[in-house]
Amino acid sequence: MKNVFKFLGLALLLFVLFILIKTFTFTSQQLQVEAVSKVDISEAAIARFSEALRIKTISHEDPADFDSSAFENFNALLSANYPLVSSTLDRKTFNRYSHLYTWHGTDESLKPIVLMGHIDVVPIASHDQWTNDPFSGAVKDGVIWGRGTIDDKFSVIGILESIEMLLAENHQPERTIYLAFGHDEEVGGELGAVPIAKYLVDQGVEAEFVLDEGYAITQKLVPGVDPDLAFIGVAEKGSTTIELTVELAGGHSSQPAPETAIDILASGVAALKEHPMEATISEAMHGFMDQVGPELGFVNRMAFANRNIFKPIIISTYESASGAGNALVRTTTAPTIFEAGIKENVIPYKARAVVNFRIIPGQTADDVMNHVVSTINDERVQAEFYGFNTNPSPVSPMDSEGYNIINKTLKQTFDGVLTAPNLVIAATDSRHFTGVSQNIYRFVPYHINESNIQSFHGIDERIPVEDYKDAIRFYRQLILNSN
Ligand SMILES: [Zn+2]
Repeated sequence: MKNVFKFLGLALLLFVLFILIKTFTFTSQQLQVEAVSKVDISEAAIARFSEALRIKTISHEDPADFDSSAFENFNALLSANYPLVSSTLDRKTFNRYSHLYTWHGTDESLKPIVLMGHIDVVPIASHDQWTNDPFSGAVKDGVIWGRGTIDDKFSVIGILESIEMLLAENHQPERTIYLAFGHDEEVGGELGAVPIAKYLVDQGVEAEFVLDEGYAITQKLVPGVDPDLAFIGVAEKGSTTIELTVELAGGHSSQPAPETAIDILASGVAALKEHPMEATISEAMHGFMDQVGPELGFVNRMAFANRNIFKPIIISTYESASGAGNALVRTTTAPTIFEAGIKENVIPYKARAVVNFRIIPGQTADDVMNHVVSTINDERVQAEFYGFNTNPSPVSPMDSEGYNIINKTLKQTFDGVLTAPNLVIAATDSRHFTGVSQNIYRFVPYHINESNIQSFHGIDERIPVEDYKDAIRFYRQLILNSN
């Protein structure tokens, strides 16, 4: 008996030792690069950004609301405000308002790069709640205000500004640089990113990397991480929507049957919420933990260093942290439409619900459908795919030349920033570019924190002038580094 205890004690000791060794050898993998000195950005550049913000290039849900004159004005602004870009780069236009610029490189043997952004913005829901008019482009106390300041005129205009600067300095890239600017990202990209990507594929273009929006530099949004932490999106979730319908004899509400269409549908939806798809640590999240883990305090570092052992704890921490935390570790379930009935004393014969799922890499829309059918497990509930469906993107490598160039540029532009790959939980235009490159990254150089995170698609979208200047510096440095 004594020997058994001795053995167990020894095993436990070895186990603890193993965990500690893994923890202490889990050391920083952050790239060590000196920051570069900041180039001057003129006030005129800020004025040009404001001008772009004043144009109401809104993507409405209803195509009938499309205001072509705004997009015409934006086309004119692109030509007028960036004369060197206009005279040096080729520009091919798709469906009148989406553009592909080509800056030919000197070395044809190098693969090109693609920088993306979108011209359109989402509509304004609560105009009167904005501190400054959303289409004023106002600059007050060092802050630029307006719809599009972060999503995503920031990228389009920031990229053009950086290239105009480089052209004025007589810079000539070795790699060809494509700029892909769609005008309908907020409504799916069918008229912009889709034909641009198809054109590039048809031309046989294989890019070294593609950079689009998706993640940013987070400030104190990750518990336990004090320095600014930039996320480079290496994958994005898919989205599928399933419509559930139940049809059953209705009748007078004075004598209801034991189960009505509404009861059955409600149970089905409740079952889906109660039994979500299984949580997992995706490849992108492993990348995140590899880079961020060593920067954390002892307990978190130990968990990330020994994630095979602590996986259930890590997952449950994410699940309970927030909606966004839960979205990082699983395919989410969100009922978005629920309807039945027309009168208070009539039992409807039909009930309908629509449920949107955001799919984690490794699972597919078909997996979601199978899960829905088996979880509801009731033949009276019909399940069908509905609307727009897309599988998760492939996971881009975290050690490619493209990743390294973006990573290095980040470190050079933002002194002391930590970087890590991560999974993008929303959809971007870059999902249409999987045929153009295996190396698709999603990052925009602005700071996101507790005070501005709600402004994205919401009220008081704004950016500090310094952030915008750093964005121009980032894109400029990125182009220099891609040589
Ligand atoms: Zn966007």
